[in-house]
Amino acid sequence: MDTPTGAAIEANLQHVHEAIAQACSTCGRAPESVRLLCVSKTKGEDLIKAAYGAGERHFGESYISEAVDKIESLRAQGFHDIVWHFIGPIQSNKTKHIAAHFDVVESVERLKILERLSVQRPEGLPPLKVMIQVNISQEEQKQGCEIEELPGLLAAASSLPKLELVGLMGVARIDADEAELNAQFGQLKALQERFVGQYPSLTELSMGMTHDLGPAIAQGSTEVRIGTAIFGERDYSKMHAH
Ligand SMILES: *Cc1c(COP(=O)(O)O)cnc(C)c1O
Repeated sequence: MDTPTGAAIEANLQHVHEAIAQACSTCGRAPESVRLLCVSKTKGEDLIKAAYGAGERHFGESYISEAVDKIESLRAQGFHDIVWHFIGPIQSNKTKHIAAHFDVVESVERLKILERLSVQRPEGLPPLKVMIQVNISQEEQKQGCEIEELPGLLAAASSLPKLELVGLMGVARIDADEAELNAQFGQLKALQERFVGQYPSLTELSMGMTHDLGPAIAQGSTEVRIGTAIFGERDYSKMHAH
C-alpha cells in the first residue's frame, strides 16, 4: 500500500471524526466526549506532522525505541504540545524510557511496572498519567490484568508518587461479533463505574479501534485509539526487532 499524502491524512481524519460524531449521536452523547488518539506506531514523522497540521494533538505509540526517536526529533523541531500516549506491551527494562518521554501510559498491567514508572519519572515533569489495561477479551495470552488483580493495581496507581491514575484501557477480541463487543466494552465500563467512587480520578475509558469504535462509543468510551483509518495499513516488514 502506498504511503498516504498529507491531503489523504486530512481526509481520513475527517472521516474518522464523522464516524465518532455519528456513533455519539446514535447513543445521545456529545462528540466532544470522545477523544481521538492517533495511533502512529510504525508511521513516519511526516504523517504525524500531517495529522498535527490537521489539528490532532494526541498520538499513541507501541514500540519504545521507535517512539523515542520520533518524540525526540519532533520536540527538537518545536512540536511541544503533542501529548504522547504509550499503548504497547511494557517490559520492565523499558519503563525508564516511558517515564522520561511519555505523558500518558495506557497499558500498565503489573505492580512492578507501576513501581518502576513512579521511581523513574523524572523530577520537573508533571505526574505520569496512568491507565490500567484490563483483559476483557477472554483470550489466554492477551494483554491486560485479570479483574481480580485490578483493585490492587488501582490502589498502587493512585498512591505511588509521580503517577496520576486516570482510567482503564481495554482491547476487545479481534474476531468478536457485535454482541460480544458490546459485552466486552460494557464490562470495562462497569468496572470504571464500580471503582470511580473510590478513585474519583478514574474517569477515562480507552476503548475502540478502527474496526470497533462504534460499539466502544456506545458502551461509554472516552478515547478511541485509531491507526489504520488515519494512516493506512501498517507495514511491519521494515521494522527492526524490538
Ligand atoms: C495498533 C493499536 C491500535 C490501533 O489499531 P487500528 O486497528 O489500526 O486502529 C489501537 N490500540 C492498540 C493497543 C494498538 O496496539
